[in-house]
Amino acid sequence: MKTKLALCLAAIIYLSAPAPAQELGPAFKKVKDGIFVYAAVLNEANSTIILPQEGVVLVDTGQSPRDSHVVMAAIKKLTSQPVRFIIHSEPHPDHAMGDFVFSPPAIVIGHAGSTASMKASESFSPARIEKQMSASREMRDAFQGFRLVTPHIEYRDRMSLNIGERTLELYYLKNVHSEADTAIWLPKERVLFTAASVGVKRFGNHRPLVSIPDTLSGIKMMKALNPEVVIPGHGNPGTAKILDDMESYYAKLMDGVRQMVSQGKSLDEIKKQLKIPGTEDWEGQDRFANNIEAAYRAVAGK
Ligand SMILES: [Zn+2]
Repeated sequence: MKTKLALCLAAIIYLSAPAPAQELGPAFKKVKDGIFVYAAVLNEANSTIILPQEGVVLVDTGQSPRDSHVVMAAIKKLTSQPVRFIIHSEPHPDHAMGDFVFSPPAIVIGHAGSTASMKASESFSPARIEKQMSASREMRDAFQGFRLVTPHIEYRDRMSLNIGERTLELYYLKNVHSEADTAIWLPKERVLFTAASVGVKRFGNHRPLVSIPDTLSGIKMMKALNPEVVIPGHGNPGTAKILDDMESYYAKLMDGVRQMVSQGKSLDEIKKQLKIPGTEDWEGQDRFANNIEAAYRAVAGK
């Protein structure tokens, strides 16, 4: 009798538990209870579903609207609650193009500068969107009902979002990738979202606004939080080792560039000659040159 009751209870508990990640599909990774990271292809932008008891929070909406629909279907399997908030780790299209799939009713949050960045970006222009839609029938379907959703809330420097039992702390990351990058920290769960300040065996795209010293300060700040799970903007979730590895890469890059500058080498010569051991198999080799440019700016104090 006792066993029967136990089995029955176990069945009830099992049925009421959220769907495990494998039921959502192989592209979903469960990193904590109620936190699922999605990317269809390695190194495409991550979209993360966070389930508090009082609704759903999304961090980024996926590489393209096609991914946003996959994420929406997964949310429907997990809960009947609506998506209440979307937090942009950055305002680029591979993180924000699919917001219209969830908003309304979702409220979109980004750092100050997000809306201006999106409005100025060629990537969100009708011509570029038409080009993306014409890639396939599937993509055209995924863009049905598209409209550009810019953040309803733009915070400055820091913000706390309390929803149900969860707290999400938003921190501005200055000059790490875009005009408006946000790290997100869940202190109880010890889960950290780094935005594109770090990658996993992947060179970041260092536009002229990127500052390596500022990025290193951002990494230091994030390491001090002592995270257990680290979710980069692109790449597989892991541990604080992701932060350590990137810190050591930047140290080697800065040392290498500083040494060559002191030998009187030009930027072009440095680009041709500098090699950082251990990065041979990293993704985005064509971006190594702009990483060197960022280090050169830092060494020159610009
Ligand atoms: Zn980006």
